[in-house]
Amino acid sequence: MTDNAQRKPIPVTQPFLPPLDEFIPYLEQIWENKWLTNNGPFHQQLEKELCQYLGVEHISLFTNGTIALVTALQALRIGGEVITTPYSFVATSHALLWNNLRPVFVDVDPDSFNMDPACIEAAITPQTTAILAVHCYGKPCAVEEIQRIADTYGLRVIYDAAHAFGIDYKGSSLLNHGDLSILSFHATKVFNTFEGGAIVCPDAKTKQRIDYLKNFGFADEITVTSPGINGKMSEFQAAFGLLQLKHVAAAITARQQVDQRYRDALQEIPGISLPPLPDQANSNYSYFPILVNEAYPLSRDALYDKLRAHGVLSRRYFYPLISDMPMYRGYQSARPDNLPYSVSLAKRVLCLPIFTDLTDKDQNNIIELIRG
Ligand SMILES: *Cc1c(COP(=O)(O)O)cnc(C)c1O
Repeated sequence: MTDNAQRKPIPVTQPFLPPLDEFIPYLEQIWENKWLTNNGPFHQQLEKELCQYLGVEHISLFTNGTIALVTALQALRIGGEVITTPYSFVATSHALLWNNLRPVFVDVDPDSFNMDPACIEAAITPQTTAILAVHCYGKPCAVEEIQRIADTYGLRVIYDAAHAFGIDYKGSSLLNHGDLSILSFHATKVFNTFEGGAIVCPDAKTKQRIDYLKNFGFADEITVTSPGINGKMSEFQAAFGLLQLKHVAAAITARQQVDQRYRDALQEIPGISLPPLPDQANSNYSYFPILVNEAYPLSRDALYDKLRAHGVLSRRYFYPLISDMPMYRGYQSARPDNLPYSVSLAKRVLCLPIFTDLTDKDQNNIIELIRG
């Protein structure tokens, strides 16, 4: 066994944890208040501070991103068919099934990994009510074109913005596009609250409806307006979020350095292509996808296995496609010939480890293994 195999494996991502002693005062406050959940003081403060940090008008915190997605579809009373992407985390489509909606998969653009607007337009039927798009790896979707299509056909637009924390597009928050945007604060994301999520919405009335829906539909002590769910974020999660927020800009800067070192080292390797950073938006460096092409001596899966054998845990993210999973592959739109670019990307993509505490030594190791 080599040294590498005996060491703790390098994960694809690792949460950024601020010094523990900085969290203790928050816990003391919770113990003092004895207010553990239901829109407590830390919850209110986090909603306010996130609006400021992200540059959005209204935000409603959730216990996780998936319940936020499910609730967002309910808040807009979406029915029938929803056009969406197969190239995402499975929760995107699951949120549709949880609402008895029919997913209609369309292909992505091979340069952006995001839904191709021409494919969206071609998939519209009289049953279509909404577009559920993903800003994949934090890269902005074609938001203007998608809005034009939505306006033309009277559709709602929901963005799964789980990867898009802190992304500005053409000078303002990407999260202000579409009718609603959903964030995830899961432990693996750039900004985390252990588990957590949020819906970003444009007006106070919509926020109120969302706030009712995440609290069983309660409008006041005795009035229940809808069959809502329990999607509330706790004070513990919110307190951790407030502490994270103080460190998140520095954490993203550290990720940027990892991203830059990979770019410098990997760009010349034949058969490896690096998706460029977006030109009209910033990045939060949440993922580092590479594409393993024919000209590389190993297949994508062989490279994945090689890295793994040396204690480096990359991820085939996103593979398999959502449309290949058993509960989706029966849909007409899930056929591989309807989704050629998605199929091709899913075969070639590999996400490399990127996180704040990745050491230069470990990163050099990963780079050398890919160099071969
Ligand atoms: C993480 C993620 C989700 C789910 O968020 P949770 O907070 O884990 O429920 C949804 N969509 C995408 C694209 C994600 O990456």
